[in-house]
Amino acid sequence: MYDLVIRNGRLVTPDRIYEADIAIQDGKYAAFLAAGTKAEAKETIDAKGNYVFPGIIDCHAHLNEPGFEYREDFETGSRAAAVAGCTTLIDMPLNNDPSLMNKEIFDLKMGKISKHSVIDYALWGGLVGDYDDKPDSVKNNMNDLVDLHNCGVAAFKGFTCPNGNLFPTVNMGNVRKALEVLKPYNALCGFHCEEYGQVLEREKEAKAKEGRTNEQKIRDFLDSHDVWTEYVATKNVIDMARATGGRVHICHVSHPMVAQVVKDAIHEGLPITAETCPHYLGFTEDFVFEKGAPAKCTPPMRTKEDMEKMWDYVLDGTLSCVGSDHSPAADEEKDNATKDIWHAWGGLNAIQFFLPMMFDMVVNKKGLSPTLIAKVMDYNPAKIFGLYGRKGAFELGFDGDVVIVDPNKAWKVDQTKLLTKGHVSCFDGQEGKGAPTCTIIRGKVVALDGMYKEEAVGYGEYITPVK
Ligand SMILES: [Zn+2]
Repeated sequence: MYDLVIRNGRLVTPDRIYEADIAIQDGKYAAFLAAGTKAEAKETIDAKGNYVFPGIIDCHAHLNEPGFEYREDFETGSRAAAVAGCTTLIDMPLNNDPSLMNKEIFDLKMGKISKHSVIDYALWGGLVGDYDDKPDSVKNNMNDLVDLHNCGVAAFKGFTCPNGNLFPTVNMGNVRKALEVLKPYNALCGFHCEEYGQVLEREKEAKAKEGRTNEQKIRDFLDSHDVWTEYVATKNVIDMARATGGRVHICHVSHPMVAQVVKDAIHEGLPITAETCPHYLGFTEDFVFEKGAPAKCTPPMRTKEDMEKMWDYVLDGTLSCVGSDHSPAADEEKDNATKDIWHAWGGLNAIQFFLPMMFDMVVNKKGLSPTLIAKVMDYNPAKIFGLYGRKGAFELGFDGDVVIVDPNKAWKVDQTKLLTKGHVSCFDGQEGKGAPTCTIIRGKVVALDGMYKEEAVGYGEYITPVK
């Protein structure tokens, strides 16, 4: 007798959709049976008429613990993720104090986050440049990368532009060194690509302008983070991959010109992967003008024409995964009444509607098959971040993760009801069709009909790459 059987669902893989029953035993997929087999189980769930995915992996989320728990912690962020159909998230090393840059901090971080995650999680390790205020021996963390790798981080994240003194910018010397150090381990380095010099210079010039209206300031902000900053940084880190042979991942590609650079590099045979986010696939500059502070993020949303072209690169496999880039803030940090675009927090409250928004865009707005979702939110992220073997596919022995999606379930974002700590989201009022009804991790239901299970708090496990 199985522990759990999910009956009559339409299983979605990158290649096809087929009806089958999923049997889970001891937290793992134990059998995929012809629908209607009526295998005996302690518990059964009927998924008739619904799509079934092997969970959703959010490869790019900032949960802010330790250090900035007033914005988000693992409990609040992961419960919102569970409701959104995520079964695994990969947490970023920054917007933390301290940032995750060595083994000692890894131990400190694990001591906190392991207590209350609802969903399974992997970690990005930090890749930081030179601190101004530290002795030469600890100027950056190049000597800590192998230790962090041995802690099981799924990838390393570096920032090519300013991101505050808690997470110093990497220069190309740091990038090259890190790729050299990590290459023997086949470890992946991901980068926020905006070129330091241009961002610094253009922001300085824009901020110095006097008497600007809010709308003009938004224009200035968008211009100071225009595509050339992203393009140059992306080309530079790709060149470092070319120089070293190290694996590079381009985070949150926002523009087709950048995607083309990635595509060329992949065609050349370089070890490059790249992701994009729902906000670059369904939202534009106009949205930033409309919403103001809540819609501030970098790179920023682009023009409608750019947005439409981005889909070509998702479809041809260049942008092989989609992450939420959930980067939460306290409400006052996103308040249009007190914060203009320059002073508002840069980052979006995005995780709770991650799958519903993507499903609605892919299936309803674009008329594409849900198999694309299985590709960019399951299979590819699992492969890229080394989680394949446990996550990302319906394979015997993999973790018994399941999200059941009702394609007809209508949803509407109400920011006052978000399960995240902050309650300001630029997506407030967005609506669509297609939402998770049930999220299951290793055979256990962690969220049902838009609410997480209280008893699942602390259930989430640390996932390390499968060797
Ligand atoms: Zn991010």
